[in-house]
Amino acid sequence: MANKNFDECTSFLINNGLYVGRICRLENVLKTIINKHGYIKNVSASLAETTALGVLLANALKFEGLFTLQLQGNGPVSTLVVDITSNGQIRACANYDLERIERAFALRKNEGEIEPTPHLLGTGTLAFTIDDGKSNYHQGVVELQGKTLEECALRYFRKSEQIETMLKLFIDIPEDEDGVYKAGGIILQRVPEFGGKEVDVKDLPELRREAEVLMNSLTKEELFDENLSLNEILYRLYHANQVAVTKTNHYDFACRCSREKLLKTLRGFKEEELNSMLDENSKITAKCGFCSENYEFTISEILEKLN
Ligand SMILES: [Zn+2]
Repeated sequence: MANKNFDECTSFLINNGLYVGRICRLENVLKTIINKHGYIKNVSASLAETTALGVLLANALKFEGLFTLQLQGNGPVSTLVVDITSNGQIRACANYDLERIERAFALRKNEGEIEPTPHLLGTGTLAFTIDDGKSNYHQGVVELQGKTLEECALRYFRKSEQIETMLKLFIDIPEDEDGVYKAGGIILQRVPEFGGKEVDVKDLPELRREAEVLMNSLTKEELFDENLSLNEILYRLYHANQVAVTKTNHYDFACRCSREKLLKTLRGFKEEELNSMLDENSKITAKCGFCSENYEFTISEILEKLN
């Protein structure tokens, strides 16, 4: 049964805007994404974690259009991609080399142990882009360095944006093959234009320490407790810090692929290239990497509008 208290991201302020924050947790949307792909457990776990990070980052930005978080590396997992639209539609996918993963896993000390995301990706980058459809393209990139995805993301804020950031990610990995994944997190940032101007500079270190200690007191059990709403969790953490909720966004799975889009891509190929793609039924089949939908085309259909 769908859990009503999940698939949300709530934005908030504490200490009269000294820190802005977001808290999110995902379940149903992950279930749909993971069921569509059938990846191995560790890859599903990394994709779930990356999706939660994507939601926390996308919610920091005012944008209309598409936010994409992409991790790329030279490891057994070559890419993890999460797409989030400004109206709350998410899709996500991974690319990996199963043989390489199995070889790497054979060296593990503890059978079944989940490897952290950066370890699966190896040397690479964490990048995000915002595409508002009007060619306004904003991109942030940082090298994937850190033991955890959390550390990699924090490095981005330190290096590229120089925004004081605190971040905690959580993931709940099911024991069973068909169990449900949960992922979520909390992020706090000091954005001077939001507030905190009235705060005495000498009080800043203590206020930061307090905000961080309280953030770190959040447990996985608490975040994933379906009987608690995100607002109740925030109140528990920051009731003494004038916590104020500013908005809540809801998320669903949706893929933006279509026959028309694929046709357009295929029309970019030469006729002889298209002929080399034909299968034994004289069709060209294309599978959407995000939702696993299969599309079939005939050559004449592809060439139709060209002539
Ligand atoms: Zn699709």
